[in-house]
Amino acid sequence: VALTGSNLPAVGQFNRAVVLEAIRRSPGGVSRVDIADMTALSSQTVSNVCKRLLESGLVRDTGTRVQGPGKPPVILELDPEGGFAVGVHIDPAVVTYVLVDLTGAVRGRVTNTTPIVQHPEAVIDEMAESIEALIAASGVDRERILGVGIASPGPIDAREGVVLDPPMLPRWHRVALRRELSEATGLPVLLEKDVTAAVVAELWFAGQASSGDFAFMYYGTGLGTGLSVGGEVLRGSSSNAGDAGHMTVDPEGPVCSCGRRGCVGDAAVPRSLVHRAVERGILPADCVDESAEVPDVDEAFTRLAQLSAEGDPGAREIFVDAAGWLAHSVVLIVNLLDADEVIFGGPFWGRIAPVVMEILPGAVVADPAFVLQHPIRFTESAIGVDGTAIGAASLVLDNTFSPRPRALLLGSE
Ligand SMILES: [Zn+2]
Repeated sequence: VALTGSNLPAVGQFNRAVVLEAIRRSPGGVSRVDIADMTALSSQTVSNVCKRLLESGLVRDTGTRVQGPGKPPVILELDPEGGFAVGVHIDPAVVTYVLVDLTGAVRGRVTNTTPIVQHPEAVIDEMAESIEALIAASGVDRERILGVGIASPGPIDAREGVVLDPPMLPRWHRVALRRELSEATGLPVLLEKDVTAAVVAELWFAGQASSGDFAFMYYGTGLGTGLSVGGEVLRGSSSNAGDAGHMTVDPEGPVCSCGRRGCVGDAAVPRSLVHRAVERGILPADCVDESAEVPDVDEAFTRLAQLSAEGDPGAREIFVDAAGWLAHSVVLIVNLLDADEVIFGGPFWGRIAPVVMEILPGAVVADPAFVLQHPIRFTESAIGVDGTAIGAASLVLDNTFSPRPRALLLGSE
């Protein structure tokens, strides 16, 4: 690592982000004196930064609050109308668009069937149209849109902003989403893997209880793992961190595309569970075929979950096995990270959640391979069904507002 320094504008940006973070983390509002206490910045610096934040409209003055003797301090809070971000979640079945305000509240939402890519230009046009329609319908001042965040299945080329060849999107091949969507909308565009967006959302909206060392288990068409280490999302050298799919969890299981048997990312995903159910006669053979399009799996998986909830022993057994496999992979992941929390979410999660939450926590702790001496919290993402789309929008908020020591280094942008 080369030695590198900082300069005053970079420090100024960092201090601005630190103050904004302190205000953002104080939902009831906060005074300048409290901000100085929280951030260890001088009162003069806090005062200067707050003046600029008020001028920019990101922060508003909510009046004074009596706090004992002396002049009551002015309370500042984030202005929800101060800025907006668009989040786009590309799932193999559906593309979800949300518009969120600075507090992360969803102000508009649209979903479309995921376009089958034949001409990338047509996809870009369709996405740009959806974004414009979303902004127009929300009534939000377009000048206040900070940017568009996109969460895509991996792998991605983060440097170029290109979606490479996601296994679940067979016809998407090197789609240059970031540049072309930015040209089409005139807005800055960020592109990240779906699991990265999910982790950023958890960090952005997390309560203070989280230690920041957690794994996010993303249960979608595929299985992904997002990682947070010390309160920062782990992106890795090419922003593709978090593929734990080829961990063997069932040595007797079916052969995965990698040639091994019983990889968790193959065995435990909805498509495989539906196929198992068909093989065992739990679901009718015609509910999916080999060339099954994703919406078919979606419907069949819902049916399987209903059967399990109604007490069908065969359906339940399939989910119990999947919970055991997921537990096996969770043990290895939390061991590796020394994490103290595992958060579950993703588009298919809700349907398998009742069985997994019943089985998995005990199975992890009882696993002889589990080495940690501290408890692990197992939680479900509180962000809801649009979590990854909101995560995509929070990429923009995070990029704009989060203080990052790395941003102090010259040459790091
Ligand atoms: Zn494999």
